[in-house]
Amino acid sequence: ASGYSLLRDPHHNKGLAFTEKERDAHYLRGLLPPVVVNHDLQVKKMMHNIRQYEVPLQRYQAMMDLQEKNERLFYKLLIENVEELLPIVYTPTVGEACQKYGTIFKNPQGLYISLKDKGKVLEILKNWPQKKIQVIVVTDGERILGLGDLGCQGMGIPVGKLSLYTALGGIRPSVCLPITIDVGTNNEKMLNDEFYIGLRQRRASGKEYAELMSEFMSAVKQNYGEKVLIQFEDFANHNAFDLLEKYRTTHLVFNDDIQGTASVVLAGLISALKLVGGSLADHKFLFLGAGEAGTGIAELIALEISKQTNTPIEETRKKIWLVDSKGLIVSSRLDSLQHFKKPWAHDHEPVDKFLDVVKSIKPTVLIGSSGAGQTFTKEIVEAMSSLNEKPIILALSNPTSQSECTAEQAYTWSEGRAIFASGSPFASVEYNGKVYVSGQSNNAYIFPGFGLGLIISGAIRVHDDMLLAASEALAEQVTQEHIDNGLIYPPFTNIRKISAHIAARVASKAYELGLATRLPQPENLVSYAESCMYSPKYRSYR
Ligand code: NAP
Ligand code: MN
Repeated sequence: ASGYSLLRDPHHNKGLAFTEKERDAHYLRGLLPPVVVNHDLQVKKMMHNIRQYEVPLQRYQAMMDLQEKNERLFYKLLIENVEELLPIVYTPTVGEACQKYGTIFKNPQGLYISLKDKGKVLEILKNWPQKKIQVIVVTDGERILGLGDLGCQGMGIPVGKLSLYTALGGIRPSVCLPITIDVGTNNEKMLNDEFYIGLRQRRASGKEYAELMSEFMSAVKQNYGEKVLIQFEDFANHNAFDLLEKYRTTHLVFNDDIQGTASVVLAGLISALKLVGGSLADHKFLFLGAGEAGTGIAELIALEISKQTNTPIEETRKKIWLVDSKGLIVSSRLDSLQHFKKPWAHDHEPVDKFLDVVKSIKPTVLIGSSGAGQTFTKEIVEAMSSLNEKPIILALSNPTSQSECTAEQAYTWSEGRAIFASGSPFASVEYNGKVYVSGQSNNAYIFPGFGLGLIISGAIRVHDDMLLAASEALAEQVTQEHIDNGLIYPPFTNIRKISAHIAARVASKAYELGLATRLPQPENLVSYAESCMYSPKYRSYR
């Protein structure tokens, strides 16, 4: 290949880091200024450039440009500055990027499959340049973060999630495939926007929707085999539960909003117990939001308590209460409830107002998973604080604009007593002369390591016990020092080590359950996981 095209190939480009010898051997002389710099200096320079931008969206664009120009530099930057760059390539900034995707769009990323492609999905998969794929993140854009239906512009989410698969979980970028399924949008703003990039029609549903999804799922298996991981991301709940149910016995599928979120929250609760004492079974849980995240987390908590106490899950579910847009979920509402809410309809009189629910249920743990911002008001946090010495409050909704409350509000209103974590990050807070650092309760802790564990074991199905194993592995990475500082999640700085531990536990579970196909089982799964992880180190070209 010519030097010119080498410089334009993001998988091979090294920019100014091409050595003198490489410049001679690959026709690069003159195409670069004379200086030769090392990878570390390139990182330093790029970070300097990115920090010049004050607007987060500009930082996002700078990162995307870098990903398109020099992939290894992009990943080295992200890995070495994960705390600083995660909020850029992921929540909250990725949400804004999706909202404006039509206008900031330069080079298309990922693969688009629309209703127009019915009958041709396999051909489209074959248009993707990489033939060997191990992880697909797919969305239909109907529930992007807490921002609602963004249609085709949801593509930012699978792209962002997969860059975390690589940076945090060490999955090679070439085996990752972001996909957006475009079945239309019900977002009026987009339907009326002349620059909208997707199908300009209302969402297909029912048979038409199911047929396209079914063709997609078959084509993926046909093209990439049984061991490709398909992660469903940001589907609306009326499809998400059904898709997971339908394909969990035939494909390696994982719904991050339902399962990944559940695993990360359970891990946080296991750590929080070290601060508040008691076991999970001693606690009472209340959720605001009874969708994918809420019921997914609730079910995993019930499962864990059931295993710990040897009690049927029907019993342990009774410690958990959920509220949806119509108020507390109770047995008198049973007939009109969506199927995923039915297990949570316990006996209680109907309660509409959330404050009244809190006062009546008296939870020790409050979890926000509604996607609606500012719902943990002063009254709510104060009520939790009068009920509990140390109220556990998790504000999971993303992005930051949709957070149930801010870290500052949680600490101020609870007079510094809350054990708080949130879906999108908040800066540390000073209250009464003390500094409070809150954790980020985000599935980004789980899915990269979880996926790595599935891949290194050659797993063919996802099992709930793997989610429990991942929670335990994550909780074990929280040190006494973190706990003493009120932190229920470890910092993201060590995430690759954390991911290796999660991967090892997930893989171990896959072997135990007979779901692993990579035989024989490696002796030390942690070091095996680490040895499989992608490193962004430059290769040398002769
Ligand atoms: P979902 O399936 O659409 O569920 C939303 C639930 O919230 C529904 O039960 C809905 O009620 C209820 N709700 C909406 N507005 C409400 C309000 N004002 N008062 C009370 N209930 C309300 O969405 P999801 O997938 O669970 O996601 C919800 C949020 O969690 C999103 O913001 C998402 O970004 C966030 N999330 C965070 C993480 C993380 O890792 N931190 C992971 C996944 C999701 P109805 O059922 O009555 O409509
Ligand atoms: Mn999601």
